[in-house]
Amino acid sequence: MPANLTLETLSEAFAAGEIDTVIVAAIDMQGRLMGKRFHAAHFLNGGWEETHCCNYLLATDMEMITVPGYAASSWEKGYGDYVMKPDLETLRRVPWLEGTALVLCDLLDHHTHEDVPHSPRAVLKRQVERARKLGFSAMMATELEFFVFDNSYEELRDSGFRDPRPISAYNEDYHIFQTTKEEKLMRALRNGLYGAGIPVENTKGEAEAGQAEINIRYAAALETADGHVIAKAATREIAHAQGKSVTFMAKYDHNRAGSSSHVHQSLWTLDGEPAFVDKDDEHGMSALMKHYMAGQLAHARDITIFLAPYVNSYKRFCVGMFAPTKAVWSADNRTAGFRVCGEGTKGVRVECRIGGADLNPYLACAALLAAGLDGIENKLELEPELRGDMYGAQGVREIPKTLREAAELAAGSDFLRTAFGADVVEHYVHAARWEISEHDRVVTDWEVQRGLERA
Ligand code: ADP
Repeated sequence: MPANLTLETLSEAFAAGEIDTVIVAAIDMQGRLMGKRFHAAHFLNGGWEETHCCNYLLATDMEMITVPGYAASSWEKGYGDYVMKPDLETLRRVPWLEGTALVLCDLLDHHTHEDVPHSPRAVLKRQVERARKLGFSAMMATELEFFVFDNSYEELRDSGFRDPRPISAYNEDYHIFQTTKEEKLMRALRNGLYGAGIPVENTKGEAEAGQAEINIRYAAALETADGHVIAKAATREIAHAQGKSVTFMAKYDHNRAGSSSHVHQSLWTLDGEPAFVDKDDEHGMSALMKHYMAGQLAHARDITIFLAPYVNSYKRFCVGMFAPTKAVWSADNRTAGFRVCGEGTKGVRVECRIGGADLNPYLACAALLAAGLDGIENKLELEPELRGDMYGAQGVREIPKTLREAAELAAGSDFLRTAFGADVVEHYVHAARWEISEHDRVVTDWEVQRGLERA
């Protein structure tokens, strides 16, 4: 299901008074939409060709700080411009905002008009192209979990984000009655995304009070990542319009489950045949799929930084809460980091369960694809399947325990350097080290509550 506007149909919608605003947005390192709102007349009158943004957009943290130490953007380099080049394939209606359309942009070098190598969309496009050269199209889906609160963002901010009130009082996994109570929001979300050309499969309650999940039909990796960032924006915007709020933090409360973004992956031939299927195999997995999974396992620790990019992300990896702690594989087993789904069917695929809802989908999909393709290129052999409860398994590959560990693994990874380019790896390792140094510097509520009186 493609995006649903062209310049021509946008022009007709403008003339009919249906659309007057076009959001022109690039994707930043955190996976957020960043850009400008154009009057539709200006967009149609040449704005669609390109616009510009400050290049600090790929060198800031969540707070938009001018983080020191990046090679690509700095005060010394004068924080110049990037070109924002609308990808007209992504031009679509935004039914949940009045009179509005949206287009996603690639970020290009101001002088050469080449892709900025560390721009998340460029990082993914490079791996998609690598797969294509090997004769495959990478199909992916990024399930997305989040919490819904009855409070507005403004109320939460006024209370120091202390006591968000989850929209339900109990674990609502698969519950129809509880999710009926949430339909005003979730129906608007499903229909809004559908009207934006994003093929929503379903929404459901998840395994914690106030937690929900949205599933979007698998598609080519770039389309999936585009749909993911738009779905996140839609969820926030529709919740906000209804006086509610949502969070995609990996772990907003240590007493509750975290939110994941599992990534389902399969390779298809360029003429549309599934390349992961072998009916004669025990699990219905082709030799190609086994090499792909072997690559993901071999590099799982090196790429965790792209699946769990914040200090907080690592608090999700705890025993018995459906988030994995071990980077091993198993068929139809939710305790393993990599789960084989759809065994013996055309839809056989690997689901990476390591990523949190806070991942940047372009970087996560690119890292997973790069690891899988490395397994194919080097014909890596798939290790034996592990069965049973992986939480207690001893002597098996662990998911890194902290961002510090993950960042140093990425920094030392020859595989990542070759796949992404040394500059790109250094850029994201620098981002992680900045997160760590900020976290090390700040005194948290936990420390004050524990120590103020008693230390
Ligand atoms: P689960 O029960 O684990 O939630 P679903 O059947 O809901 O599994 O599928 C999860 C996601 O996997 C969906 O977004 C779906 O589109 C996607 N999916 C299905 N088949 C494939 C495939 N061959 N390759 C990649 N993703 C797929």
